Amino acid sequence: MEINNNSYRCAIVGGGVAGLSLAIQLADAGIEVIVFEKNTYPFHKVCGEYISMESWNFLLSLGLPLNDMNLPSITQLGVSSEKGFMLNAPLDLGGFGISRYTLDQELCLLAKAKGVVILENCKVLDVENENEHSSLITTTFGLYRAQIVCGSYGKYTPVFAKSSTESKKKNINYIGVKYHIKTDFPDNRIELHNYEDGYCGISKVDKETYCMCYLSTSDKLKQSENNIKQLEETVLHKNPFLKRIFLEAEFIFKEPIVISNISFHKKSAYANGIFLVGDAAGSITPLCGNGMSMGFRASFVLSRLLVSFFRTKTSKTALIEAYQDAWNNEFNFRIQTGYYLQSLFGKKTTTHLVLKTLDKFPAVTQKIIGLTHGKPF
Ligand SMILES: Cc1cc2nc3c(=O)[nH]c(=O)nc-3n(C[C@H](O)[C@H](O)[C@H](O)COP(=O)(O)OP(=O)(O)OC[C@H]3O[C@@H](n4cnc5c(N)ncnc54)[C@H](O)[C@@H]3O)c2cc1C
Repeated sequence: MEINNNSYRCAIVGGGVAGLSLAIQLADAGIEVIVFEKNTYPFHKVCGEYISMESWNFLLSLGLPLNDMNLPSITQLGVSSEKGFMLNAPLDLGGFGISRYTLDQELCLLAKAKGVVILENCKVLDVENENEHSSLITTTFGLYRAQIVCGSYGKYTPVFAKSSTESKKKNINYIGVKYHIKTDFPDNRIELHNYEDGYCGISKVDKETYCMCYLSTSDKLKQSENNIKQLEETVLHKNPFLKRIFLEAEFIFKEPIVISNISFHKKSAYANGIFLVGDAAGSITPLCGNGMSMGFRASFVLSRLLVSFFRTKTSKTALIEAYQDAWNNEFNFRIQTGYYLQSLFGKKTTTHLVLKTLDKFPAVTQKIIGLTHGKPF
């Protein structure tokens, strides 16, 4: 395979929210960056498309014109149980809705305008450390060299990035399903509807559309003869609020977008010579985690360290240590809290009792919501 003559200071594997925001910050600091993305923008992704307000100022600082995009501001939360109870609570910090189709495309255009080289439809097949100052990246477009390689490839760890220390613990295997719908639903509200082994979120995004996105397990799908419609009718429709939305909404996609083999667990911020950001470093359940904001925040932390590394020529070992420490400080507690909260949801009786109890203690409810949203940065 031919080696591409251009050598980059930083190569980023995966152009989702974490990778693109990292690329933009590095380009702003004058660092040559290349992003490899296996898909072609714009494209849909399974995601609830609710972004915590903690990321608003950060996205503005990247140059994303959020104020001109007419995005819904989400300030109210409803969480329902399968038994038909709805907990209502204000969202102190709140969030906004934007489809991944729009968001990733806008970030890509912004990155390109700032000089980032983005290779679309280009899959990274291998990353090999040649020495302390250079890695060789094998892609479907050929070979590339970079001083630093960052992995923002999302929740599925490619073979070349698998670390021997990654947890072998058997995690629950989830599936994720997303629709865009038109329905009669308040613009400022997000609802999370529980049912056995999963939950479904609904909230407004751009273009007068609502995102409806749910998690279930691969076991439940198997029990439904691997048929999504059957899964919805036999499992999701048991929640009366959800059943009404399913029956009344107008579905925009012919078929839902479906992903499988998802598990939520902590990974590592550095593996096999690659600095990891976003879901690549560890993903958190959507109900309690605000994964996109965690990806933005990790890119913010890593970009500062990388800029300082390139400017001061500190050692790579010091950079690795500094990033791992910073990542653990930022996210360890949030991830652990998320896993704990997750264990209270998607269960018929436990979830119902938790929601009824929280309804009587609004201050506790606010505290828990606060744990799922970080501080603006
Ligand atoms: C059901 C569900 C609902 C969710 N809802 C929300 C929500 O409402 N709000 C929220 O904040 N978070 C939510 N999340 C989490 C959120 O989607 C993720 O945390 C976020 O997308 C992570 O961004 P990322 O950039 O790390 O990865 P991704 O957005 O997944 O991007 C990774 C990119 O890498 C590319 N790629 C992968 N491998 C390669 C390769 N070898 N070569 C080249 N390119 C490659 C992929 O094509 C992809 O574009 C949800 C997650 C799920 C599963």
